[in-house]
Amino acid sequence: MRRVLGLLAVAAVTLGIAWWLAGLPGEISIAIAGFAIETRTGIGVLGAAILLAALLLGLRLMLAILHIPRSLRAWRARRRRERGEAAVTTALVSLAAAEPEAARTAARQARDSLGDTPQTLLLAAEASRLAGRDGEAEAIYRRMEGQADAAFLGLRGLFRQAMAREDWSEAADIARRAAKLRPGGAWMREERLALAARIGDWEQAQGLADGAPLRLAFATAAALSATSPDRELTLAKRAWKLERGFTPAALAYAAALRAAGRESKALSVLAEAWREFPHPALAELALAPVSEAMARMAAATKLSAGAPQHAETHFLLARTALDAGLTGEARRHLAAAQGAGLAQKRVFLLLAALEAAEHGGDAAGQAAQRDALLRAASAEPDSAWHCDACGTAHAAWHPACPSCHAAGRLRWGGPPRLALAAP
Ligand SMILES: [Zn+2]
Repeated sequence: MRRVLGLLAVAAVTLGIAWWLAGLPGEISIAIAGFAIETRTGIGVLGAAILLAALLLGLRLMLAILHIPRSLRAWRARRRRERGEAAVTTALVSLAAAEPEAARTAARQARDSLGDTPQTLLLAAEASRLAGRDGEAEAIYRRMEGQADAAFLGLRGLFRQAMAREDWSEAADIARRAAKLRPGGAWMREERLALAARIGDWEQAQGLADGAPLRLAFATAAALSATSPDRELTLAKRAWKLERGFTPAALAYAAALRAAGRESKALSVLAEAWREFPHPALAELALAPVSEAMARMAAATKLSAGAPQHAETHFLLARTALDAGLTGEARRHLAAAQGAGLAQKRVFLLLAALEAAEHGGDAAGQAAQRDALLRAASAEPDSAWHCDACGTAHAAWHPACPSCHAAGRLRWGGPPRLALAAP
């Protein structure tokens, strides 16, 4: 309806103009270079309007012809960009599908179409890396390092390659260069931390660590690897103050104090650590300088006074009492340790030793020993340092698991229940 009204309006205006032109009075006479035109005013005005429209059309046509080369160039550039973008998508999909050769081909096409941009170079490097062409990938990463907007990406790739081939000094050098470009970046921080943990630079690892368990593990490791007794004492004290119940830190601090001649302070640190977390290694260090059996029992009683009802305390006292020939006292503490929930192999081995000491070689004693040894064979394994990332048991504590390199993941106790991997 609106269109019909519009057409009617245009027709009315056209008719109005035609009527106005036809009604114009007089004539127009034009003489140019010997040509003379004479016509009525209305026809003259109409002719001038048609001439003007033709001139405008001609001008537009001429401009369009002049723009043809530029338009062609723009069309070709658009085609190239579209081809490049399609190649980038293909390369990304091939990388995700782990199809290295297809990814390399698509990345090469993307570079041909779009040039060496950070995106196309990264795709090409990742495709080469996936194809196992490390030299090719390294050359592209180095090219990226030379471009201001791709330098960090290049260094990131070079760093990962250095870590993979365990070239620690090269990795550390690259990490320093990358950290200058993006100071405080989370990824670089994590990678530098992993590197520091792998090369045993514990003080740097502590500075980069996020979270108390990691800081504690690295602080303890820094103390244990200190090169001078004074430095060891300072670092060990710092680590122990982070968590007084952390056995490796308490052991490091007490050992440093003992080495500095501060025996009574060393024993008080061990006693405090026992109160927080009774660990057999604390007793081993505390009792090491004491050789006489009764004195060892007295030292064990003093060490464990802060946690008198703990199963480990009863087990320690049972062992030292047995060594001192106090079999009744040993039996009482051993029963208390079992009553407190300790049912590990060592309990039954100590029970067998107790039966042997108490009953000697008589038939009843031998039967009791056999029974205790049988129970030891099927008892829970003794506590150990276990990595709760990979489950491996280790005889000694380490700041990072020697098996899987996970840092700060060793816990004292029985084997951890690891989550099963999804099928
Ligand atoms: Zn592990």
